[in-house]
Amino acid sequence: MATYVIGFPRIGEQRELKKALESYWAGKSTQQELQKTASELRKRHWTYQKNAGIDLISVNDFSFYDNMIDAMTMLNAIPERYKDIDNCMDRYFAIARGDANHKAMEMTKWFNTNYHYIVPELDVNMDFKASIDKIKIELAEAKELGINAKVNFVGPITFVKLSKIVNGSEDEIIEKLIPVYEDLIAQIKALGVNTIQLDEPYFVTNPTKKDLETLKKVYDKLGGLADIFVATYFEHSNEANEVLATTPIKGMFLDFVAGSENSIKALADAGKIVGIGIVNGRNVWVNDIEKSVEFLKGIAETYDADKIMVGSSCSLLHVPYTLKYETKMDEDIKSWISYALEKLDEIRVIEKLFRGEELNEYEKEVLEGNKIAIATRKTSDKIHDPVVKDRVSNLTDKDKHRSVPFEERIKLQHENLKYPILPTTTIGSFPQTPELRKLRRDYKNGVISEEEYKTQIKAMIKDLVEYQEAIDIDVLVHGEFERNDMVEYFGEQLKGVAFSQNGWVQSYGSRCVKPPLIFGDVSRPKDMTVEWTVYAQSLTDRPMKGMLTGPVTMLNWSFVRDDQSKRTTAYQMAIAIRDEVEALEAAGIKVIQVDEAALREGYPLRNEKRAEYEDWAITSFRITTSSVKPETQIHTHMCYSEFSDIMDAIEDMDADVISIENARSDNSLLKIFKERGYKGEIGPGVYDIHSPRIPSTEEMVEQIEAILEVLPAEKVWVNPDCGLKTRKWEEVKPSLENMVKAAKEVRAKL
Ligand code: GLN
Ligand code: ZN
Repeated sequence: MATYVIGFPRIGEQRELKKALESYWAGKSTQQELQKTASELRKRHWTYQKNAGIDLISVNDFSFYDNMIDAMTMLNAIPERYKDIDNCMDRYFAIARGDANHKAMEMTKWFNTNYHYIVPELDVNMDFKASIDKIKIELAEAKELGINAKVNFVGPITFVKLSKIVNGSEDEIIEKLIPVYEDLIAQIKALGVNTIQLDEPYFVTNPTKKDLETLKKVYDKLGGLADIFVATYFEHSNEANEVLATTPIKGMFLDFVAGSENSIKALADAGKIVGIGIVNGRNVWVNDIEKSVEFLKGIAETYDADKIMVGSSCSLLHVPYTLKYETKMDEDIKSWISYALEKLDEIRVIEKLFRGEELNEYEKEVLEGNKIAIATRKTSDKIHDPVVKDRVSNLTDKDKHRSVPFEERIKLQHENLKYPILPTTTIGSFPQTPELRKLRRDYKNGVISEEEYKTQIKAMIKDLVEYQEAIDIDVLVHGEFERNDMVEYFGEQLKGVAFSQNGWVQSYGSRCVKPPLIFGDVSRPKDMTVEWTVYAQSLTDRPMKGMLTGPVTMLNWSFVRDDQSKRTTAYQMAIAIRDEVEALEAAGIKVIQVDEAALREGYPLRNEKRAEYEDWAITSFRITTSSVKPETQIHTHMCYSEFSDIMDAIEDMDADVISIENARSDNSLLKIFKERGYKGEIGPGVYDIHSPRIPSTEEMVEQIEAILEVLPAEKVWVNPDCGLKTRKWEEVKPSLENMVKAAKEVRAKL
């Protein structure tokens, strides 16, 4: 027992599971067919791991949608309202995505990743009991292949902590779950498997004293029932490591990439096995194998080498499958990255070198390739651009501050822009229709010429400008028709950012994303949005809002290079986008919105690391937005309604106008802005675009009036929540018309 992975991706290297699921949901295939694909994928994935020399291979990391739903099923923690569905598979997918008679359960992000899980709803009166049907099937398949299985599932504390409790207390529920977990472990042992991984990533956040007492209590009971390994990831879990060392568990799997501070002294003293997760499951850069071996040797100076295992930092679910399909990628860039399959090789080679075992021919090649990659990455001029580095080192305080304070510049902006009280605007995008997607695809595939493409996009922009004027919106947008995605669009035009062909990562259910690779020093070779925005502005006398994605969001939704600090990469990105801001301003654009949709999700899991993140993140935003003239108005936008703990940072951004999601909240959010005396202007969404329903003028009047009970009219903008691109024109048009009418009605009463 020497190597392990925390978990393996399941969507399939060609997204086979996605296709099978979507075909099943569309009624085009049967449950048996779906099961068959799943079984084939599991077998293929286990075989990959076995052939790569992974000793402990995960079973039950597979999921048709999400492991938390699997855990709900395993514990019989299914909410009452789904009990009328007899077929288990139908029930499962009703929970995941809803059906004709049931709403889906809520979904949220898994820690600081872009993977989403379904949030269990727990009631202390639920009839919790162990069901290992899924595990049994998968174990039987694994046995057939001669797989040395470790069964994975979420531990009871993390399960409860991530749930919504509808009745009872956390303690009561955990108390009731302990015997269920005991039973689960016993049933798995009866199937001949003694190695079990319980995931408790909750303990990488800042656990309380009480949490740690619960941890002790739970694992004193469960820890000795089999070879129990507790896995944590995405950060260090030092408090838990100490506590777990005093329980009968066999060992821990720890993240030594994101949690390099992990301390293992207590585990060493207690003679526990420790899994050193050193191959990054969250990012794609090749591991520096020799450095990792040295690191392990360092650990072995005080830790019994026989008790050390080598593995992935977290589940490989968060990286793509294999470089095999990257046939178009620049060869150098390709040599610098490894996906899940290549990471398996890294784990094996690191472990062998650490133990002083001889490498076979293939492993020698892996090591040689690795050394070359590490060396070329240090000097390649594809990565290193002295001009960019200079611009970052020459940043001064002046680059991070607007030239005059808000109170003065807002007056100049009002003179410059002449918008009325309660000005109306939108967050940027307008419907992305199938025809529009086809147009972009045709252009990309060379089916239509650039000229033809531009003519058609411009025609759409013209229609939209005329429409916005006709319904009397005050600050217009061009509609973002040229963009498929707010990060990809800019990534494709920036130097230092690359795209993969097949670098898919599961986001939720059957949905995958293909994050850009920020591999080198970032710069902007030419204008990115100026032509569209200037064309749009040429059609109207009203202000046209330029629309950009902010540096923090660019980083948080990409694979970011690991050979320099995130701060440095963010500053480079910030300067590149600032170049675009300046170009827009120079071309006569007077309002520029810099979206920071992902600022919130980038927050570190540990409180003590928040200040550092806020410092580089907010500074980056300011670098992007501070060089404009005082009369140029900077907007920002954030798509969420949880601000209470990040208000200092939001204020620090020093934007002139911020638009936020509000339509589904009760204005408690706005009260926070009020109490703090937030100085900028605010556009709280006045209607929820997530629903196809068309809001009436009256209800938006009410909504605006409710906002005005909290905020002074002089500070308030009227706009919808973000996401118009996901709606149909038939829904957007009447809604916006009603919104403008509502703004006018309220204005008239002021
Ligand atoms: N400007 C973007 C849009 O309206 C913002 C998207 C977002 O915040 N996620 O689509
Ligand atoms: Zn948004």
